[in-house]
Amino acid sequence: MVVVGSGAAGLMACLALPVQLNVLLLTKDSRARSASRWAQGGIAAALGPDDSTEAHFHDTLAAGAGLCEPRAVRLLVEQAPRCVERLLSLGVRFDRQGGQLSRTIEAAHSQRRVLHAADQTGRAIVEVLQARVRERPRLHQHNDAVVLQLWRDGRRCCGLQLMAAGVVGWLRAGAVVLASGGGCRLFAQTTNPPLASGDGVVMAYRAGAALRDLEFVQFHPTALMIPGAPHFLISEAARGEGAVLHNLDGSDPVAAVGGGNLASRDEVSRALAEHMVRRGDTHVWLDLRPIGQERLLRQFPAILERCRAWGIDPLTMPVPVAPAAHYWMGGVQTDLQAHTTVPGLYALGEVASSGVHGANRLASNSLMECLVCAHQLEQGDLDLDLPRTVPVHRLAAPVAVTSSSMVAARDISRRIRDLCWTMAGVNRREDAMAMAQQQLQALAHGLDHRPELAWLKTSAPGDRHPVLPQAMGLLRRWVEVEHLCALGLLLLEAARFRRESRGGHYRLDHPAQQPFWRRHSRQQQGRAISSRPVGIEA
Ligand SMILES: Cc1cc2nc3c(=O)[nH]c(=O)nc-3n(C[C@H](O)[C@H](O)[C@H](O)COP(=O)(O)OP(=O)(O)OC[C@H]3O[C@@H](n4cnc5c(N)ncnc54)[C@H](O)[C@@H]3O)c2cc1C
Repeated sequence: MVVVGSGAAGLMACLALPVQLNVLLLTKDSRARSASRWAQGGIAAALGPDDSTEAHFHDTLAAGAGLCEPRAVRLLVEQAPRCVERLLSLGVRFDRQGGQLSRTIEAAHSQRRVLHAADQTGRAIVEVLQARVRERPRLHQHNDAVVLQLWRDGRRCCGLQLMAAGVVGWLRAGAVVLASGGGCRLFAQTTNPPLASGDGVVMAYRAGAALRDLEFVQFHPTALMIPGAPHFLISEAARGEGAVLHNLDGSDPVAAVGGGNLASRDEVSRALAEHMVRRGDTHVWLDLRPIGQERLLRQFPAILERCRAWGIDPLTMPVPVAPAAHYWMGGVQTDLQAHTTVPGLYALGEVASSGVHGANRLASNSLMECLVCAHQLEQGDLDLDLPRTVPVHRLAAPVAVTSSSMVAARDISRRIRDLCWTMAGVNRREDAMAMAQQQLQALAHGLDHRPELAWLKTSAPGDRHPVLPQAMGLLRRWVEVEHLCALGLLLLEAARFRRESRGGHYRLDHPAQQPFWRRHSRQQQGRAISSRPVGIEA
């Protein structure tokens, strides 16, 4: 069995898979840069005496704006408390108050149900999972291993093509679990780590898997906005604890939004984007001082540290923030046991569309989804071909390594990301998206003829070439650019298809939600984009 990705979903999958199975964990990072590790605010579970799984269920459905799959949400909210128990027993240390687990509140939650470990909840979870995974028998982990494409034999996924340790080769596997995270690096402004290039969605699509609801991207309203600085997330938990937004002139940008400061992320992001465009501002302010010094130091140490590193001290001044792409609701369609529509291929976590998030994710439900869905591998019947995982072929990259090639890759990547941010970001419109699609198609055509990529496409299981390890960094960069371009085209196709506004998808030319569109979009290679009513595929 091969697991692709070492975020929360991939790590929990390794622990959930039957211990008699040989597992190979492949991950393209080695420096702990997964979105899971960057998660700040927390993880949602209905645990308090004033809370219930029913309330968590209804909050999730409300945030999902009619597109959640109720069975998937039911599974999430009912398994969440058990999952917390399991995390505690594995050694995760959440913050406590008077011996009880401390719970905060985030946007669109009706109760305080977000458990946290200061503002580094993801790190606290991932470090414990990593330690447990290292203890798992019959597990081998390979870092700096980039999966390039999935390998299909007939209808079945039977392995993958991989670049690792100076080698490009093909690996046969009984089954593949994709836990490769989201794709918000497609947007020039994003809170996501560089690894989030949507590889899994593109690879699954090319292997024939159905994609669902790709038009739904969540834009977080409060990413740090300082020229030259990364768009570091200022967690919503900060607003949950009292931080307030205001415009540069001191007025309230969310005054007209029901729910104000803690309205859903799409509403707040749109309100901020609208104010910024109208006033020509590059940011608004987020004032964390109402939280109070003592609580700021205790609950938000990483946010304080990162802001201070860029010359902003939240204890004494407001923080400049603006919306940024944060989470991809759509992805590879799965059922409740993480099966995709391709036998032998599973998908988990942000790469998947399990039906939990619908058109908009409820804050802090995604880490929980990673863990709950991974546990389903433990419960369900695993569709394995043969219990084998053996390298079968080795290839080399006959690619010239030049600095101009590296510069070209960076340049095209920037163009793709700027285009998707400006034309398919917080606000979308048919004419802008059609133009962006044309430009991306032209870029895709150019990419088809890049020697670095053409070689990879022609190589098939069985090919052999001499090894050229120094080309690996360059190849990796080109593969990511190509994946971003393909992902951008898939996003635009889905966003043009849905002629309404709902959840994270907002169209200026179709601003209303339409009852007809209470349907999922569906994309599958070789077929026209289509839609399916909610409820028939879970
Ligand atoms: C800044 C930030 C804060 C967040 N805060 C919260 C929060 O408080 N609560 C919450 O619930 N959610 C939060 N989220 C969202 C949540 O963190 C993610 O949705 C979730 O962690 C995704 O987990 P994952 O395991 O699916 O993917 P990731 O954690 O992104 O891991 C993906 C893995 O796949 C690997 N990979 C990708 N492509 C390839 C390839 N081609 N070959 C090999 N390996 C590959 C990567 O190296 C990585 O190891 C936050 C996200 C961000 C960015």
